[in-house]
Amino acid sequence: MQCPSCEKPAATFLRYAFSSNGVSYLQSLKGYLRCAHCSTLLKIIQPNRVMLIVMTVTVIYVSVYVLFAQQIISFLGIRIANMLFIPLLLAIVFCTLYIEWRSLTIVKADTSNDQ
Ligand SMILES: [Zn+2]
Repeated sequence: MQCPSCEKPAATFLRYAFSSNGVSYLQSLKGYLRCAHCSTLLKIIQPNRVMLIVMTVTVIYVSVYVLFAQQIISFLGIRIANMLFIPLLLAIVFCTLYIEWRSLTIVKADTSNDQ
């Protein structure tokens, strides 16, 4: 995601995934972030899409795991199947976030309203 103001990357993926991006937590939930280079307040155009896709991926993953529980358990054993459940889910969510992060569109935030 490139900052429309200074043309530099507004946030690294790790910053995007693990911090509130220089704004309050509430603002960050609404899709706001502050450019890491020039501190311009920016807004992600489609913040809900990320949540929606992550939720969809999670639901699909859990469904597949439940549907194929018998096969997975007989193939890996119940202990490994249980051990892999959460780390695999995290890995998939992480990859999804990364793909989304690369394709997000950001604009300069209009600070006259929605503050
Ligand atoms: Zn910038």
